[in-house]
Amino acid sequence: MSQNLQALETESKKLHEIPTSNPPYQALYLHIPFCAARCSYCDFVTEAITTDSAAIDRYLDDLLADVREAFDQGLLNDLKTVYVGGGTPSHLGQDRILFLLQELRGYLKDAKIKEFTLEANPDSLVKLDLPALKKLGLTRISLGVQSFDDLELEILGRIHDAREALEAIYQIQASGLDLSIDLICGIPGQSLDSWLNSLQQVEELMLDHISIYPLSLEELTPLAVQLEEGADEFLELPDDDEQAADMLLSESFLGRIGLKRYEISSYSRPGHESKHNMIYWTGQPYLGLGKGAVSMAMLDACNLTGEVKNGLSSLSQPVRIRFQEREIVDELDSEEAAAEDLMMRMRLADGISEEELRHLSSKLPKARQSLDKLVKEGLLEYQHKRYRPTQRGWLMGNCIFETIWDLVS
Ligand code: SF4
Repeated sequence: MSQNLQALETESKKLHEIPTSNPPYQALYLHIPFCAARCSYCDFVTEAITTDSAAIDRYLDDLLADVREAFDQGLLNDLKTVYVGGGTPSHLGQDRILFLLQELRGYLKDAKIKEFTLEANPDSLVKLDLPALKKLGLTRISLGVQSFDDLELEILGRIHDAREALEAIYQIQASGLDLSIDLICGIPGQSLDSWLNSLQQVEELMLDHISIYPLSLEELTPLAVQLEEGADEFLELPDDDEQAADMLLSESFLGRIGLKRYEISSYSRPGHESKHNMIYWTGQPYLGLGKGAVSMAMLDACNLTGEVKNGLSSLSQPVRIRFQEREIVDELDSEEAAAEDLMMRMRLADGISEEELRHLSSKLPKARQSLDKLVKEGLLEYQHKRYRPTQRGWLMGNCIFETIWDLVS
């Protein structure tokens, strides 16, 4: 970090107002940090709370005050997507979600929103009146199914079972909302057969979008402690090879039924890719509001000349900042921002085109050399004037990301 940046950090760690981004924010993320219960593997910023708690109403008031401020500053006009994530936003219940959507409608009246997603869990989703939410602009549900096997759901500490997940899926499909589900592979006790069974459910349900995450166990989560203590001799975390086998099975099975892997964890039928996540993965600015939400802003020319703007001063270097609840948590100069963009592109099946690479090479002159090295190692391929991750590259994503980050370190 340059001296300039260190000065910035001590002087203006706290942002007085939400920074203006140039280009403007393309996506809005609202964080709802509440759940009905805490899952055994979860270390997210969330708390288990009963749905009638007044703390939820107070939180929503504060969240909407932040949205109003962003609206007053004219920061919402160019948004393309909105994502209400958590926690478990569906745990807010019908009335609060209706209220939230009604309020947002006013603040987003000048924006052309193409996708509006609500994250949900089966147990609370089945209580919602989805057609009423759809009328207020909701377009998509991202449903945390995680597994179609009751024993695996129990190990994960989920409070729903497979039957309730199916009920929620039928309800969403009947409403006409787009649907994505999350599944977890590498669950202790999960066999390749039970993983295949979950994938077969995706086929039977004719789903259009699915995200698959290998279970990653953070220290001190109840499941991690349970495994550490060896309380159940049959419960073991699958090793890297088993997780790799799950990912390879997913790609071949889902590919066969028309769900293309378009990002390291995401599979979709053409046209059903997550527009919101594509904004993250293509390095466009996004605004995250609420506890634990992160934003990414590109600072404009005015900031770069060192003028005081939005509480930022002496900015001669950074072009990109990340902030969380008004606090700068990350500052990237133009080389670092270019490396980050290149890493993000390597999450995508489409990789990076010659033209995009030429553009990034003005900041990272040795980028092509590094990508060619990764091609030789079999982690990338170069075809039709694009560098793309190979299957091996996706399994060894960290090697790709480290090589790219070495360009600036
Ligand atoms: S529902 Fe999601 S956010 Fe809530 S406790 Fe479970 S894993 Fe964590």
